Amino acid sequence: MIMIYFDYAATTPVDTRVVNKMLPYFNKEFGNPSSIYDLGKSSKYAINFARKEIADAINCYPEEIYFTSCGSESDNLAIKGIAKANRVKGNHIITSKIEHPAVINTCKSLEKEGFEVTYLDVDKNGFVNINELEKAIKNNTILISIMYANNEIGTVQDVDKIGEIARKRNIIFHTDSVQAVGNIRIDVRKSNIDSLSMSAHKFYGPKGVGALYVRSGVNFNRQQDGGHQEKEKRSGTENVPGIVGMGYAISLANNEIESHTEKIKYLRDLYIKSIINEVPNIYINGSLDKRLPGNANISYLGIKGAKMVELLNERGICASSGSACSAGLIKPSNVILATTKNSNIASSALRTTFGKYNTIDDINYLVENIKDIVKKYR
Ligand code: PLP
Repeated sequence: MIMIYFDYAATTPVDTRVVNKMLPYFNKEFGNPSSIYDLGKSSKYAINFARKEIADAINCYPEEIYFTSCGSESDNLAIKGIAKANRVKGNHIITSKIEHPAVINTCKSLEKEGFEVTYLDVDKNGFVNINELEKAIKNNTILISIMYANNEIGTVQDVDKIGEIARKRNIIFHTDSVQAVGNIRIDVRKSNIDSLSMSAHKFYGPKGVGALYVRSGVNFNRQQDGGHQEKEKRSGTENVPGIVGMGYAISLANNEIESHTEKIKYLRDLYIKSIINEVPNIYINGSLDKRLPGNANISYLGIKGAKMVELLNERGICASSGSACSAGLIKPSNVILATTKNSNIASSALRTTFGKYNTIDDINYLVENIKDIVKKYR
């Protein structure tokens, strides 16, 4: 059975070079990094090597990197940790309406604990309005959390501008960069980013490992009680093979970013151009220029996104609708509702995300099948 993958924003296959790098850490170099004999020290060395690889990739110091279990945990640790540690200064947080649930639900949970959260609107392409962001800042604002790039529509925010405003006003700036790391060159110093979350499985690393950068000098509280690991900010024996894999995956991604971006963008644009030319009654979600290289999100009006995903699956194609299915009800994408305010567009969105293993033949197969499905089921 054919299987063609267009869901690289959901997760990526682990690069074979990364798998090979990880393998010894399962059963040869298996020591606990907290143990003080040589086997333990060797694991500790491997973790700190990976910490340096990650720090180099985003231009920070290795001491500013904390390992976690995933992007969601990094967002929780950053937002809850920063909010609670800085509560004496204020209780107001600014975020946007199109954040990932790892951010939105963390903010909702903080609201229950007495924090006040402003959820900024976005324009039709998914951009936060910088004037509105500035207007939302109050004397008690302690944290701005705006994602680097959106997971559904791929829109890349003006992170430099947001960082500049936050730094000027002495407000901590966290950015959920789970979709950006590995796809966009990131420089936390240049962009005035105080805190940034990432997840290895989005850049050809393993699942179950994430990292959080927090600029030294920024206070944040641990969210989990236990041992002294990660400078007492994140207790729990480290996932050594995962961390080794994450470090190597990010250094590969950064070394290969230009060539991969060029190829992936070409394939993505080929798909979009072909669909514009050959399929009527469509709507392209998100910005066409400031967008993740591998993201295309197109609403095929008249066909539910979830139905399209099902029909494509029958033809061996993996894609995503962005809509969440809860209790048997298919809810239209809240991100596309926020950008278009149109439930027909939101419920007919199809997200295809392209990666380094896709080919031109894959794109042709995708376009042919979408044309056929649209003809038969619209
Ligand atoms: N933030 C964004 C923008 C994401 O796309 C995702 C995952 O899709 C996450 C956070 C959560 O990452 P993880 O799956 O590693 O918990």
